[in-house]
Amino acid sequence: MHAKRGAMKLTVLGCGDAFGSGGRLQTCYHVETAATRFLIDCGATALIGFNRCGLDPNAVETIFISHLHGDHFAGLVWWLIHAQHVAKRTAPLTVVGPQDVRARFEAAAEALFPGSTGVARRCDLSFLELAREKPLDVGSVRVTPFEVVHPSGAPPYALRFEAEGKVLSFTGDTEWTESLVPAGHRADLYIMECYMFDGAPRVHTSWQAIARNLDRIAAKRVMITHMAEPMLARRHEVTDPRVVLAEDGLVLEV
Ligand SMILES: [Zn+2]
Ligand SMILES: [Zn+2]
Repeated sequence: MHAKRGAMKLTVLGCGDAFGSGGRLQTCYHVETAATRFLIDCGATALIGFNRCGLDPNAVETIFISHLHGDHFAGLVWWLIHAQHVAKRTAPLTVVGPQDVRARFEAAAEALFPGSTGVARRCDLSFLELAREKPLDVGSVRVTPFEVVHPSGAPPYALRFEAEGKVLSFTGDTEWTESLVPAGHRADLYIMECYMFDGAPRVHTSWQAIARNLDRIAAKRVMITHMAEPMLARRHEVTDPRVVLAEDGLVLEV
């Protein structure tokens, strides 16, 4: 049962930072269209989010990864063991991420569950690499990556998704950088990391920096996410009518 035509249905499976601030799960967004279901990032807690929300991991066709930090991709390790031994997945799965995504996944999987990458998989697993500002069509979904500023061993990206005539963008993790403007320009929804309330935190963004740029970005709606404790404590001071505060379990139609 897919979302209706001309819409994307977003379920926030995890909107926390890397450290469990506020008891939130790590980054993972589930998107459903009339044609497909995909994930944006797959933090280590992704399967916990699926179980809480009653969603089916086997129905996900593509997993897009913004950058190669554990709170955004480590869930692939558990995901693929679960697919093999519990969900007994046979449908193909495509993982799309930064350069070397496959090698980083395999290194993580072998560190955590030795031997887990050597099994004969029930499902076809393929990896595709993103290239800066090059649109990539994966089935009915077009993704365009914009490079951001967040050292993680491979180029980190903000991702702009187009499907069903809608635009859903995601900053990934980054300090404020100008590429965030085209990445989310006039998006129907822009999911923006907002680690701190004010100042210029290293490798992350503050609400102040976002607020200064909202008019230029001109997204219809913005969801702020990946909040550390000091930001969580002040999140209700954000009263701009364009802005939605992320919560685990929140469902939005885009
Ligand atoms: Zn993160
Ligand atoms: Zn990160």
